[in-house]
Amino acid sequence: MSASFEAKFEDRASRYDTRKLDPKRRINICTSRVALLTYPGQVQFLVAANLLARTHANVNLQPVDGSVPIDPRLPFAGKDIFDHALQDMRAVRERHQFTSSGPQAGDLLFNVDPKSSGYVIHGDGWNSWIGLGPSPLRAENETNPFGPALAVILAVAQVYLGDGNQPYVPIEANAFDWTLGFTSEKVLPTLPVGTKIWFNGLGSVGTATLYFLSLFTRRAFTTLVDADMVKVENISRSPLFTAQHASAHTPKVDVAAQFMADAGFPAPAVHKAMLDELKEWMNRDTGTPDLVVSAANERNVQYWTEVGHPPLQIYATTGKTFQVTLLRHIPVKEACSLCLFPLGEQVNPQTCAMDEEAASLGVVLGEEPVDPALPFLSFLAGMMSASEIGKVSLQGYPFTRNRVYVALNPTFRCVHSNIRKLEDCLCQRDTNKHSLAIEGSKFAGLSWIY
Ligand SMILES: [Zn+2]
Repeated sequence: MSASFEAKFEDRASRYDTRKLDPKRRINICTSRVALLTYPGQVQFLVAANLLARTHANVNLQPVDGSVPIDPRLPFAGKDIFDHALQDMRAVRERHQFTSSGPQAGDLLFNVDPKSSGYVIHGDGWNSWIGLGPSPLRAENETNPFGPALAVILAVAQVYLGDGNQPYVPIEANAFDWTLGFTSEKVLPTLPVGTKIWFNGLGSVGTATLYFLSLFTRRAFTTLVDADMVKVENISRSPLFTAQHASAHTPKVDVAAQFMADAGFPAPAVHKAMLDELKEWMNRDTGTPDLVVSAANERNVQYWTEVGHPPLQIYATTGKTFQVTLLRHIPVKEACSLCLFPLGEQVNPQTCAMDEEAASLGVVLGEEPVDPALPFLSFLAGMMSASEIGKVSLQGYPFTRNRVYVALNPTFRCVHSNIRKLEDCLCQRDTNKHSLAIEGSKFAGLSWIY
């Protein structure tokens, strides 16, 4: 046990002085056996355990009667869900109280049983709900992790921002078109067989994207690109990083590759490198990959991405004032990533660019002069990216404009806008070459529909 581990672990989050919840107060994740035997119930439980272990060191998983195996549609199927969740949680920190015992007076309840009374966190299909139970959402138990995951992440953000006495503001939202209110959309997220995805960047948002992707598909063929090793400061923002990874200086790509092996993905191609030094990017075959998750934030990465004539890009960034921005670039048709983060203005591309736009759209932002650093922001960014990846092959895609801005403080809201194409940008000089480069990729059709 080391004091420096704890200090580094909390390094980024401690720059926010907004946290009011007593660190000694126990958060009790509770549910029922009936709820935990469903796919959405398991997604809620697992995401809550993983994320709360990163925001809070005192978390209990209240047992249900009998053992509950992980659903066959989820990674790690068949393992006892309590054993699995606790093992994951205990790997996160050196000093913690992560337990599985009965309720105690003074617990802050994190209740994911939709049928119970009191404040309830419930997602099903694309829909998410937080409020006084029982939940008004019909339990369809769809194989869709995104409504359940969104509900949990929004509730964790509220726990983090509150003092634990009035923890929940009611929310009705959906992860289909990222609006407040429920959607009637029933189509399930899916990914065509053989889809090839490049992950440029396996930091907090890249690994979170992979984690949420794994909840509905493990059949993507992936290429992982990142040059960094896990540091203690990174652990709290990634669903995959552990204390052991930080002490062993494990490369982030290796953490991601090991997770994929354990979760049942085909073996990825792994590059411990930055994109600009990777000949495999510039020299890759026409029509590959099908999709790029641009979650890297090193200098000029957008330039090196765009000169390589990328296919569809989907990713999300976290901002310094409790904000997440989901971004999409359909090649040739839409503004590219350089239109958004022009060369010479890339001091910290993942944190900038949205504030002015948000202000013009009437979103009031706070003034915290700190890094984008909170665990629930990178989880939200990864979840939104994975959700979009699950929609790209659905009829009628895209369902939103190419920039969806989400603010969490003081309460959840979404603003949709289109990224402006910059005059003179790289993306407008070479459209024929770009069209040829993406021809044959699975989602190239999106570029030709006007
Ligand atoms: Zn451009």
